[in-house]
Amino acid sequence: MHLDVNTLFMVTIYVEAILGLLLLFAWAQNMAIRAVAWWGFAHLARAASIVLFGMYGSAPDLITIDLANAVLFSAFAITWTGARVFDGRPVEPVYLVTGAVLWLLVCRLPIMAEAVELRAMIASAIITAYTWLTAYEFWRGRSENLVSRWPAIFMLFAHGALFLLRTPLVAMLPWSPTDNNIFGSVWLTVLSFEALLFTISIAFILLAMAKERTELRHRTAAMVDPLTGIANRRAFLQEAGLIAKRHASSPRPTAVLLVDLDHFKTINDRFGHALGDRVLEIFAATTLESVRASDLIGRIGGEEFAAVLYDTTNERALAVAERIREGFAKAAQQVDGRPVCATVSVGVVHYDGAGLDVPELLAQADQALYFAKENGRNRVEVASLEMLLKRKDEGTAADAASAAPGKVSAQSAA
Ligand code: GH3
Ligand code: MG
Ligand code: MG
Repeated sequence: MHLDVNTLFMVTIYVEAILGLLLLFAWAQNMAIRAVAWWGFAHLARAASIVLFGMYGSAPDLITIDLANAVLFSAFAITWTGARVFDGRPVEPVYLVTGAVLWLLVCRLPIMAEAVELRAMIASAIITAYTWLTAYEFWRGRSENLVSRWPAIFMLFAHGALFLLRTPLVAMLPWSPTDNNIFGSVWLTVLSFEALLFTISIAFILLAMAKERTELRHRTAAMVDPLTGIANRRAFLQEAGLIAKRHASSPRPTAVLLVDLDHFKTINDRFGHALGDRVLEIFAATTLESVRASDLIGRIGGEEFAAVLYDTTNERALAVAERIREGFAKAAQQVDGRPVCATVSVGVVHYDGAGLDVPELLAQADQALYFAKENGRNRVEVASLEMLLKRKDEGTAADAASAAPGKVSAQSAA
């Protein structure tokens, strides 16, 4: 098969331009992800650079080599800047133009005029630097769980490596076998073809990343409580169901905690709703410090929170509950300089059997929470059979069984 460089150039110009316009179109539809616009401009800049390269022979070298390369390096620098913007890092105007400026300065050196291979080496080094920097930016942002981040990192790394390898490869196989005709170069054909494949793949992957992030954010927004940043009721119950399902065949002892802020209505009345919100934020933050990363916590009502501690002993569950209670009481003594002295009551249930049923355990924890409120608040109570019987004696158990657990507690404790 014979690949004609001229045809490849023409195809690449069209493909780059179309991809650039498509990325800009995608950005116009969802302007929230500004990086997509940067990547669109990068493709357009690359198209422009190839137009300039294509004019080789019919225009001065200053345009077809020096300027063309400067525009090409800027395109890679724009892609890198897009990666920074994508992960919320600032634009670096100086480094954005460093490659192009460095190149134009180097080209002015008299010894460079005939040093074709040295120039090719410098050009490769600049492209590799920007490409690897782009991969590095995506790598730095890997804590955001986007699957498409990984092929992007891989592709960028491979593309950069190829440009770096070009130097030793050129030494083995001359850059231009037919000296005066650069378009006859094997390497130009190989690199042009690789560049075409790379540009199509990277545009697709970058767009996939932007799309994946948008979807992730929508999904997260539907599952996360916006005030405290922890799981909302729906997400909590869903995740709890998944834990039960995942470990159905070999369940481990599990504790469920139900936490309710004490006299929270009074706090709102005395200090205002905004300060009440701060107290809820403080509760979530201190609780996160008291549990393991694998424990599940959620805000399941206005000032009601729950936790599932999977694979936990009775003792640890009690210790965690106490830690949450104490930690919060300490952190909420003074809030924004006001003497709030907020506390929580906690109901705990420990379960060591088959068929983990979190809603059922929440109902039992709610019984314990009721007693914690009854017994003076700012305390931890563990659900027990006696508790159930006692509440039955009080004639409320029948109601409790039919009513929603949260309501029972609120009504009884009020
Ligand atoms: P108890 O100790 O018996 O639990 O008393 P309480 O005052 O905490 O319970 P109650 O159920 O009477 O009041 C709960 C209050 O929580 C009422 C409601 O205005 C407040 N609340 C619910 N959601 C929010 C919220 O998002 N922000 C603020 N600031 N207050 C909230
Ligand atoms: Mg309360
Ligand atoms: Mg409540």
